[in-house]
Amino acid sequence: MQSSETLSDPFATERRLMVRDQIVARGIGNPRVLSTMRVLPRHLFVPAEERVHAHEDRPLPIGLGATISQPLIAATMTEALRLEGLERVLEIGTGSGYQTALLCELAGEVWSVEIDPAIAAAAESVLRGLGYSDRLHLRVGDGRSGWADAAPFDRILLSAAPQRVPKALLDQLADGGRLVAPVGPPSNQRLLAIDRHGEETETLDLGRVRFVPLRRP
Ligand code: SAH
Repeated sequence: MQSSETLSDPFATERRLMVRDQIVARGIGNPRVLSTMRVLPRHLFVPAEERVHAHEDRPLPIGLGATISQPLIAATMTEALRLEGLERVLEIGTGSGYQTALLCELAGEVWSVEIDPAIAAAAESVLRGLGYSDRLHLRVGDGRSGWADAAPFDRILLSAAPQRVPKALLDQLADGGRLVAPVGPPSNQRLLAIDRHGEETETLDLGRVRFVPLRRP
């Protein structure tokens, strides 16, 4: 057994404490989400000068106007997706790529759309560097129209908040699928899980959140 704090994995202890004190302590119990967050190198998704802050209990600016979500939020959204391993997942708002990597670890195949080319390029370089290739598809564009060529998706995750969930995204959700999204104006956003049963949808309110707005080009 190696010590958990080695040269090759200098943040192992910080990740373990992050999961214990910020995530398990707040009621997240999905064992696959927790074990993935204990190993996924979160520090690689933030700029080098911010690495010491990568495991703090808050969102962090990552340059170019983007933000990596608070660890608890990434855990909450990932748990809400109820991934078992084979799902086809669409993510809107790649951002740092950290959430994308969680999806790659926990689902079958991932499509992620980012509107800002520079943010997308930075995330792509980290994600490809970590070895996510065949089962990860990245695209620069407006995520409000989804990714029609690859639809339907078993899960859809929005990392930026629309006023209302775009119809194109609901149309690309498979029967029996679930969409998780922050919805509403910055002053009053709710995290919603929307389940599709045939032509019907059922909405669950998972509580108050604060995300950047889903932009129009
Ligand atoms: N889960 C991400 C959060 C990124 S912040 C992380 O932890 O890193 C939200 C991202 O959504 C930003 O990068 C922003 O550029 C992107 N975004 C905003 N509007 C968008 C749109 N219409 N289509 C695709 N991406 C969008």
